[in-house]
Amino acid sequence: MSFSTQEYDIVILGGGAAGFFGALACAEKCPSAQIVILEKTRQPLAKVRVSGGGRCNTTHSCFIPAELKRRYPRGSLFLQALFHRFQPRDTIEWFETRGVDLKVEKDGRMFPITDSSQTIIDCFQNEAKKKGIEIRLGMDVISIQKNDSIFMLECENKEKILAKNLLVATGSNPKSHVLIKTLGHTIIPPVPSLFTFHIEDPRLSGLAGVTIPEVTVQCLTFKETGPLLITHWGLSGPAILRLSAWAARELHAVNYSAELKIQWVAGFNQEEMRLHLLKIKKETPSKRIMAEPLFNLPRQLWERLLHYAGIGHEVRYSGLSRLALLKLCETLVASKMLVKGKSIHKEEFVSCGGVNLDEVNPRTMQSLLCPGLYFAGEVLDIDGITGGFNFQNAWTTSWIAAQSMNL
Ligand SMILES: Cc1cc2nc3c(=O)[nH]c(=O)nc-3n(C[C@H](O)[C@H](O)[C@H](O)COP(=O)(O)OP(=O)(O)OC[C@H]3O[C@@H](n4cnc5c(N)ncnc54)[C@H](O)[C@@H]3O)c2cc1C
Repeated sequence: MSFSTQEYDIVILGGGAAGFFGALACAEKCPSAQIVILEKTRQPLAKVRVSGGGRCNTTHSCFIPAELKRRYPRGSLFLQALFHRFQPRDTIEWFETRGVDLKVEKDGRMFPITDSSQTIIDCFQNEAKKKGIEIRLGMDVISIQKNDSIFMLECENKEKILAKNLLVATGSNPKSHVLIKTLGHTIIPPVPSLFTFHIEDPRLSGLAGVTIPEVTVQCLTFKETGPLLITHWGLSGPAILRLSAWAARELHAVNYSAELKIQWVAGFNQEEMRLHLLKIKKETPSKRIMAEPLFNLPRQLWERLLHYAGIGHEVRYSGLSRLALLKLCETLVASKMLVKGKSIHKEEFVSCGGVNLDEVNPRTMQSLLCPGLYFAGEVLDIDGITGGFNFQNAWTTSWIAAQSMNL
């Protein structure tokens, strides 16, 4: 069986967020360019579909590049200059001009007003159709070669595609890393980021679903403050997810086994807590300690922490011994627990690692080793904390790549 070989001005490898956004930006920059998206599965934009619990946390309402870059444990310096050219404000405008309004939630996360990722998918697919972008599904590219200035891509089905420009937007797929290495690039080994912690601890058992608006968590040399969620298996919530992102490599190195310190009441050290509790003891000696949770802690958690500190139901502040008071201070300010593993956070997860940023031009997203080759999205050694920053990376890098292509 013989196959024809088609040639395109631009081949986009990968039909995910970065691939579609890049293809649309290329088509806008050069309407006459012949553009194709090659997607190995039958379901393009699969991650967009499941993203943000099906709502697609499209971006984040953080509009100052120097501030925004701090949400990226890897790639922040590389991104900073790019954010001066395409940042969340541009994302909002881009979607708005194509009929998709985004709304902002209290924590800054932005979603389509429909609360459905399908809105984003429909927008991309309709725009691609309008602009004549070809989308070829079931095209698993298994080899890439470059002869003179033309790339030749071979698919598993033996079809060959020629490209003048190649934008690689294959996400964190390890098979595509092998392909990229054949073009001379090095890959920073991928490890998971944005995960929850497995912890078996009597202070947590039976409290699944309890949330605490602000705690400080510390693990290895990393520290984060934010909301915490107790789960059936341990801990989750923004504070833990952010910690997992910053400590992704270090936690991987210790096989996800490490001590976690929880400060249930942010902003107090043990001595400040001791003085605070002594003051309450003096002011309300006859009050039962368990009767009224302090620091707005959820009642169930307050009771559990008191039990852990050896303080029973009937104990009043007047009966709080010096030792019990010290134990309570330690429990509130520095509860130590053992992390024994990790779980996937279903709403958002990414891999850190990918194409070494030292080999990519940060002004153009073009390879410094192979002219005509561009990268965008999660395939790069860039990843953000939870909150819409990973999609913003996909939008920004693919948009810049499109502006830089020599069409
Ligand atoms: C469950 C989940 C929820 C998430 N929610 C959010 C969120 O709400 N907000 C946020 O900012 N981020 C979220 N993320 C992260 C975000 O989805 C990714 O960072 C983003 O999708 C990366 O886009 P990408 O285009 O670079 O890669 P991908 O979306 O992974 O797309 C890569 C595409 O390339 C294709 N491909 C790979 N290799 C080949 C090949 N050899 N030939 C042809 N095609 C190939 C793949 O099949 C895939 O379709 C979430 C991730 C997950 C897993």
